[in-house]
Amino acid sequence: MSSMKYTPKQHITEIHSRLSKTFREGRTLPLEYRRKQLLQVARLVQENVDAVMASLKADLGRHPFEATLPELGPMVSSALHAVQNLDEWNSPEKPQVEAWRSGWDTTIFKAPKGTVVNISPWNFPWVLTILPLIGAIAAGCTCLIKPSEHAQASAALMAKLIPQYLDPDAYAVCLGAVEETTHVLSLKWDHIFYTGSVSVGRIVAEAAAKQLTPVTLELGGQSPVFVDGDSTNIEIAAKRILWGKQQNAGQVCVAPNHVFVQEQHQSALVEGGPLDSSSEMARVVNARHYERNKSLLFRTKGKVVLGGQAGQDLRIEPAIVTGVTLDDPLMEEEIFGPILPIIPVANVDAAISHIQSGQKTNVWITFHVSMHVDQLCSKVVQRTQSGQLIINETFGQVAVYEMPFGGQGQSGYGSYLGKYSFDTFTHQRGYINVPADARTEGFMQGRYPPYSAPALEF
Ligand code: NAD
Repeated sequence: MSSMKYTPKQHITEIHSRLSKTFREGRTLPLEYRRKQLLQVARLVQENVDAVMASLKADLGRHPFEATLPELGPMVSSALHAVQNLDEWNSPEKPQVEAWRSGWDTTIFKAPKGTVVNISPWNFPWVLTILPLIGAIAAGCTCLIKPSEHAQASAALMAKLIPQYLDPDAYAVCLGAVEETTHVLSLKWDHIFYTGSVSVGRIVAEAAAKQLTPVTLELGGQSPVFVDGDSTNIEIAAKRILWGKQQNAGQVCVAPNHVFVQEQHQSALVEGGPLDSSSEMARVVNARHYERNKSLLFRTKGKVVLGGQAGQDLRIEPAIVTGVTLDDPLMEEEIFGPILPIIPVANVDAAISHIQSGQKTNVWITFHVSMHVDQLCSKVVQRTQSGQLIINETFGQVAVYEMPFGGQGQSGYGSYLGKYSFDTFTHQRGYINVPADARTEGFMQGRYPPYSAPALEF
């Protein structure tokens, strides 16, 4: 049962009307207004560091380090990055047109889409709510956010702080679970931004289709790693893979899901990485996911060679499972927990073919590869598909906000971060002004009836 007070549906409808009205009145259009709101986002975080950290501790048992690096830092830097680049992002573009149209004014204006909604998950409750919001503000949209009911402390703090820092007529928070979100989705938005599971992604896409609303889906998926034991520094590979897996107790959409490695290098890889099994690590979000992880560890046919102890407070020691085969329960779906299966393979071709032929092969968000040989890298680039590809690192791609972040296939569509967030909430509006002067009209003359066959020159 929830202790958080959910927003009544009638109130959600009223918020929708309020935000729509504010957009129609043009309040969010001036860049000065947007910059001020973006700076307020940065202030909100900077002035409430302790409270935000406490909410992450309450929701996920996060250590301050794991709160700062992936959540507080990116919120502030993304808001400031948007402030600094807003003029450039918003600048109208002049396309190269054919010579005969050169006398026309042809301009692509960056128009805000309108009133948008961002529905976010519990695993990174702050950053996955605020980063899309930053894009919406920068684009000049009004925005409702609907944080996850499974990260209650974070959601409640957002609901308290956002109206204090941001214009409440333009940006609002609604709290709730399935019923409330279903109501949100019944309203007409100008863009829906959704981060969460594949199954709910389908529900969101269907609701969006009913109203022909553009939608961004940032969904889950498996992120496999291939370690080329012949060419890579196994110790570095092990450290970086485990770091990526330990973050937020593996509850990360781009966490390494499983590792392919040549059989003869399996034990070196397992021995290479230090495992932090102390209480510094985040915990599993709730009893349902805790039981799900425990059941995976119980059902696997692989060998749990390290970790896997379940503690009292929803903590599970990061577990390494070796000798896993493709039909293992661990491979059924995205693990989204602190369990790392290792699958012995003959070589990179075998790993690629497993990825290509498996039921879930099109859901990879990321293909992590730890190796240094160019030829192997280009093979992986050419023969696999994924939202991103990261070499010799895990998790780090989310920090590169100069590039689009988004999935492919069942991991969703659309992308964001930095300018790509601005673009997501922006309509590229073509503006064509054809001079109504004698010279242009003379040129147009030939198109009016009565028709004669035009002289075509190509
Ligand atoms: P979820 O889909 O259960 O919930 C996300 C949001 O959807 C919540 O706000 C929730 O209230 C709402 N929701 C849940 N059920 C709903 C329904 N039936 N109708 C309407 N709304 C509903 O996802 P989660 O468990 O919070 O998040 C975990 C998933 O999210 C994982 O699969 C993970 O990989 C994915 N994820 C993806 C990214 C990414 O950027 N691609 C980032 C983080 C998490």
